[in-house]
Amino acid sequence: MGLIIFIFGLIFGSFYNVVGLRLPNNESIVKPGSHCPKCNHKLSWYENIPILSYLFLGGKCKECKNPISIIYPLIEFLTGVLFLISYLIFGISEQFFIGLVLSSLVVIIFVSDSKYMIILDSPLVISSVLILIIKYYYHGISAVGSSLLSGIIVFAAMYILMLLGNFMFKKESLGGGDIKLSFVSGLSLGTYLGLFYIVLGAFFAFPYALYVTIKKKESMLPFGPFLAISMLIIYFNLEKVTELLKIVLNLN
Ligand SMILES: [Zn+2]
Repeated sequence: MGLIIFIFGLIFGSFYNVVGLRLPNNESIVKPGSHCPKCNHKLSWYENIPILSYLFLGGKCKECKNPISIIYPLIEFLTGVLFLISYLIFGISEQFFIGLVLSSLVVIIFVSDSKYMIILDSPLVISSVLILIIKYYYHGISAVGSSLLSGIIVFAAMYILMLLGNFMFKKESLGGGDIKLSFVSGLSLGTYLGLFYIVLGAFFAFPYALYVTIKKKESMLPFGPFLAISMLIIYFNLEKVTELLKIVLNLN
């Protein structure tokens, strides 16, 4: 079962490559089919198998022999691994399906944010809807309500942080995508872990932020990937992190 889920992850990962690279340019994700970005050579089915084709083609386009970016197979592999982790931790369950949604979102954010410094709206919207549908399926409408409330609280906290950042740096400090991503984190993590996620994301981003501010004299940061990583780490360690937080906050 684990192997099947891993292979599913590879296939989805190859689709997320396309989504993350094409959507920011307003290109269709269906047409044209997969092609070499250098010579436009159309890929046949055997040049389009996740990871295997890359190895089999020796990392080069069959037609023009230009190197194919290693990012593609890496993204496929990453998606496969995240899907597998989700299955190994949660089994087939509510948490597993939400885990797949979050993993997918994180992968797409990695592709689009690292290349274009943008977090797309459509994956955020689709993820939110999917998470709410899963919550509804397992727990009914009240779970949807409390999930939405957590989403709004974490979103608001991030929004306030952005206003503070703008005030301190006298210009835009956080991207709109970072704030919207916090809504998805609130939906899936709940309020406490959602707020903790902002702290953890900032903790991860801090060394990089320091470097960018000092070296490049910029205040705009690609905060997205750091937030995305912290969201997944917290999600996969949900129970351990909850225990820890309860002790820290004395909620027991
Ligand atoms: Zn080519």
